[in-house]
Amino acid sequence: MTGARAQLHRLAERIAVEQFGGEIVEESIPGYQVLTRRRLADPLPGVRAAQALTSAARGLLVEHAREARAVGRSWDEIGEALGLSDGAADEERAEAAFAEIVEGRRAESYWPSVRSPSTSWRCRPCGELVIDYGLSGSSHPDDQESGHADTCTRHRAALAQWRIDTRWDE
Ligand SMILES: [Zn+2]
Repeated sequence: MTGARAQLHRLAERIAVEQFGGEIVEESIPGYQVLTRRRLADPLPGVRAAQALTSAARGLLVEHAREARAVGRSWDEIGEALGLSDGAADEERAEAAFAEIVEGRRAESYWPSVRSPSTSWRCRPCGELVIDYGLSGSSHPDDQESGHADTCTRHRAALAQWRIDTRWDE
């Protein structure tokens, strides 16, 4: 990690500890004898810290855009600074920038990267890389997460809970 991301990472860690009661643990990195990795014992204070930063950054974005307008920059120039696609006509990018900043509405087609509807993480109990689809409109654990080992205790518990919740066995 470099630059803004690394600085933000350190800041988020500090906020997680100082404001949200997070605790830092050092754990060894598999395959390295001397290197350790700092992480939060419970990642949730990290989520709270990151959300606080997101909200603060959002406020900054609005503030700087207003200052840009105050000194005579156009909404199209602001759109360019936001990284909005210039494939469309200028007025459209200007409208997309206004929608983003003022209305808090994301005009998806102007953003270059389409967000994937999934994320992934390494499952602690089974060690496999799991693709996480969120609630995805289905309550079945296999529709929400894929990649767990067959023997994964966490996934088996989720399946068992799902059978209870849906009264599958009755
Ligand atoms: Zn697993």
